Amino acid sequence: MSNPSLPQNDSPAEQQQRKNELAQAQNAYVYDHNTRLKPLGVAESVPNGQGFAPIWAGSAVLVILDLVGNVVAKASKLVGPDGSLRVAGGAPMDKATSARMHGVFADLKRWHRELTLLLTPLHAEPERAPAPPPRELAVALFEGVAQSVATAAESRVVSYALGTKVFPIEKAGDTIKSLLEMLLSAAGKLFLDQVGMLGPATGLYDYASEFQTLRLPEIASVYQDDTSFAWMRVAGPNPLVIKRVTSPGANFPVTDAQYQSVMGKGDTLASAGEEGRLYLADYKALAQLVPGTAPDQQKYVEAPLALFAVPAAGSPSRLLRPVAIQCTQTPGAASPIFTPSDGVAWEVAKLHVQVADGNHHEMVSHLGQTHLIIEAFAMATPRRLAPEHPVNVLLTPHFQGTLAINNAAEADLIAPGGPVDNLLAGTIASSTQLAIDSVLSYSVNQQFLPAALASRGVEDPDTLPSYPYRDDAVLLWGAIHQWVSRYLAIYYTSDADVQGDYELQSWFTELSSPAGGGLRDIGEDGAISTVAYLADLLTHVIFTASAQHAAVNFPQNFIMSFTPALPLAAYAPAPSITEGLPPSEIFQHLPPLQHALLQLGVMTLLGGVYYSRLGDYDRNIPGVYFTDARVREPLEAFQRALLDVETTIGKRNLQRIPYVVLLPSQIPQSINI
Ligand code: MN
Repeated sequence: MSNPSLPQNDSPAEQQQRKNELAQAQNAYVYDHNTRLKPLGVAESVPNGQGFAPIWAGSAVLVILDLVGNVVAKASKLVGPDGSLRVAGGAPMDKATSARMHGVFADLKRWHRELTLLLTPLHAEPERAPAPPPRELAVALFEGVAQSVATAAESRVVSYALGTKVFPIEKAGDTIKSLLEMLLSAAGKLFLDQVGMLGPATGLYDYASEFQTLRLPEIASVYQDDTSFAWMRVAGPNPLVIKRVTSPGANFPVTDAQYQSVMGKGDTLASAGEEGRLYLADYKALAQLVPGTAPDQQKYVEAPLALFAVPAAGSPSRLLRPVAIQCTQTPGAASPIFTPSDGVAWEVAKLHVQVADGNHHEMVSHLGQTHLIIEAFAMATPRRLAPEHPVNVLLTPHFQGTLAINNAAEADLIAPGGPVDNLLAGTIASSTQLAIDSVLSYSVNQQFLPAALASRGVEDPDTLPSYPYRDDAVLLWGAIHQWVSRYLAIYYTSDADVQGDYELQSWFTELSSPAGGGLRDIGEDGAISTVAYLADLLTHVIFTASAQHAAVNFPQNFIMSFTPALPLAAYAPAPSITEGLPPSEIFQHLPPLQHALLQLGVMTLLGGVYYSRLGDYDRNIPGVYFTDARVREPLEAFQRALLDVETTIGKRNLQRIPYVVLLPSQIPQSINI
């Protein structure tokens, strides 16, 4: 195989061949600007070879099996020693109820069996024939993939191969859908009622007990503490909202007395603001959400403001502390300012901030600003950069599975009646619009990590000492930037090479064109002119597809699956009084148990599939990915740098509340879940 090359350096015959290859790719990668995500351009269908990998499918099915098994475990308490069903108190169940429950059990058992059978090609092979040597198995796997992707273009439903067998992943998808429908049906409600997972909770134990065979996340024991609430802003699922302010602002009139009730008499709002110790989480983007119903209960979501402060230099702890919350953008008697001394009302106000953060997390930080931003690059790259273009070669592994997961998200996740509609606070139309707007307003150049941190005023460890996301992300950005720069130096010897690279310029034009990716504030004055800018941009793409997505995706599993820690909707309006609320008030606002179970399931799945690993380009493929011998040394340097980052983060985790999502070993190469 010849080395990658820039188009302008190729012979006329080679240039013609590249044009032919690109014409083919443009037939396979077709934009659809008229989906639920319009006007964004997304892949009309998943092109050949862009489906989920078989190992991905296997791990997704394993998570679903865990979830079904967890529900079965909860229900098994109803089965008496003789196999008959009993109500929770122990008395025999009446005949009609028992019959309907047996029907639900039969469904669960059938789905469990079907899912298990999907996995049998993974482990049943040796019974039928001697196990092939590993190399042959890998080849067989690839032949299977090739067969299955050959049929993929004919249908939206992509098939996957395990061994030489086609893996019908749509069956796993159908099982999830059936499970969801069952839980929402009359029989499902009866089932949930009998097993104690329907209606309002009366204690936090009700939520914890939804974890049976699944492990209860550690966050369950600490999330109510104010330290944990502040920690979420700097190391939670959505550590991207706080910004440094000099004062809370005219629409959030926190008084010095309120400030001092938290931070002590020796500190003032003015001095904290002056010293860069004041931070605001402003969820005003959520004001556009229209509260939805779920499906027969009204949901609520506010656009709150939350103020935090870092204790002055020399204080025993310099961890961020929550100072005050106002649940709406408009101050006044109906929207009081809450502080930690308000007891139950403070706890409820914190819950409304968490609800806002959860909705902002899923629609803006996760779906919009990782999945959908990368979709634009995953489309323009094969359409505009020939397979032998060095930037195509560099980026392609970072798009593995992205079109497939985004296509599935568009078809199922954000469909009316789907998980987002059920769980999140807004109507599905307004939630989807929030995600779309977050892409349309995304300024690419301002989102490069150093610029993004500076624009929120959170870049300086002296003023904001504890910010695990920032500290770890900066290391990853640096390692990726070094790798990209050294890789580009092999192929681009000067800025003139960039300016003369007509494929790259056409890639840029498509990314910024409304008929293509529609990205704004990208490039240098309407072009890509320098190697330095290209290195920054490609670093941003790889960082967003790997580290940034990992930071927002995987806490879904071990934080958001425990609904009280981060409920995706509130079920009562924010309080308008600061005193006199009973301790049970919180259960009016928390999602009912059936929604907590759904949140548990969806978050465990979305945060529970790990496929591929950053920097490990040869994983899951036969042979070596980069065939150009000149790449070897920079790649090995990148892999060593990632190991150094791993060790540094490990050491940090001995000194802080551990933050694990940016350990390089926990970061997939691409957005595929
Ligand atoms: Mn994701």
